Amino acid sequence: MKVAVLGGGPSGAFAAERLASAGIRTVLFDEKLAWEKPCGGGLTWKAWSQYPFLFDSPTPRKTVTETVLAAPKSTPVKLTLDRPLLIFSRYDLNAMLLDRAARAGAQIEQTRVLGAERSGDAWKLRTKLGSLYADHCIVATGARNPLRDFGTELTRADTMCALGYYVPGDRHRIDIQFLPKLEGYIWVFPRCGHMSVGICGKGEPASALRARLERYMEEHGLSKDGATFYSHVLPCLGTRAWKQNRVAGPRWMATGDAAGLVDPITGEGIYYALRSADLAAEAILAQQESPELAYRRLLRRDFTGDLEFGSRLAHRVFHGSFLCGAITSRMVQFTRLSPKFRSVMQDLFAGTQPYIGLKKRLFRNLNGSLIEIVCNLGLGRVIPRPDVV
Ligand SMILES: Cc1cc2nc3c(=O)[nH]c(=O)nc-3n(C[C@H](O)[C@H](O)[C@H](O)COP(=O)(O)OP(=O)(O)OC[C@H]3O[C@@H](n4cnc5c(N)ncnc54)[C@H](O)[C@@H]3O)c2cc1C
Repeated sequence: MKVAVLGGGPSGAFAAERLASAGIRTVLFDEKLAWEKPCGGGLTWKAWSQYPFLFDSPTPRKTVTETVLAAPKSTPVKLTLDRPLLIFSRYDLNAMLLDRAARAGAQIEQTRVLGAERSGDAWKLRTKLGSLYADHCIVATGARNPLRDFGTELTRADTMCALGYYVPGDRHRIDIQFLPKLEGYIWVFPRCGHMSVGICGKGEPASALRARLERYMEEHGLSKDGATFYSHVLPCLGTRAWKQNRVAGPRWMATGDAAGLVDPITGEGIYYALRSADLAAEAILAQQESPELAYRRLLRRDFTGDLEFGSRLAHRVFHGSFLCGAITSRMVQFTRLSPKFRSVMQDLFAGTQPYIGLKKRLFRNLNGSLIEIVCNLGLGRVIPRPDVV
């Protein structure tokens, strides 16, 4: 059996590693190979605890335990993460994953795939270097997938714009800023030697997002001198799109951004790129009659049900109100005043709190949280408070 992997980002590289290390003849194509894909580069505990090589690898990265959350009409709050976030430059992360694939035995080809056509039971792939035949294709060509017959058919409503600057400087903490009337947020991520300062938002033009980000940078002393601008598309599927999502077909499977597998609230995509690659490889290696059907089932059982549920919550999280205030502002205030709520936030940052079950947990905790808040507001130091910035 021969498998062609189209795209060498985290998803393609990891799928190629998994298949090649199981003895499958695997060819990976990427037009750029390792490159600095516009991205925050943040990996949650969920990702690196499931794939410990990400933590163990000597690849340069920042290990971050401090985050500051801010929202309109609330005092920013510092949250010390009990499970750190790892932040990589995407060049370094991609290079490490491609190197692992090559060492597992995958053939790596730097070329663009121009098209894929069925030829009997096989695929004929056209590249700038010539043609190649394969039994299965893994389509991991990212959010700007040029192969229109494969993967998610992304409409404008199912994407958000994400843009920002790589700013020279050093920091050790993450900043997250929620903004009025924006389904998205601003982030400042520390990286080795620079910061990634960016904004993502659904339903707002890139120019308006850029203006919001530049205003924030000015107000927070983040200079654009020597900074490099970046922008990209982030899949952000609505509920209907999840139901119709084209993730697989006869002898092909789409993984990562090409299959729209991104958290619709946080924009986390690297974990889902790796996880879907792992599941696609598992489906092929199981050698069942229909690996694509097996892949769909594995995805559903693993995480797509939760991401679909998240897509129903997204609008409410960013635009809804609770106790006469914006939910995002209440989140910041509750994090400051309630240990019970803070532990929910810890789990959200670690990626261990599924969206299914979140509402139940919040309501179960609500009485306790409100009592903590009242005590904290009224009695000052009765309950230990996190730092306020
Ligand atoms: C601004 C921004 C910030 C983000 N921050 C985070 C974050 O902090 N944490 C997180 O988890 N996620 C983040 N994401 C999401 C994350 O970047 C993506 O989910 C992740 O890169 C998906 O990996 P992938 O392998 O599916 O696709 P990609 O990383 O996009 O890789 C696709 C690859 O396919 C190649 N390719 C495309 N077409 C062809 C072709 N025809 N032939 C050959 N090769 C081809 C490309 O060169 C590319 O290397 C962010 C996204 C954006 C836009």
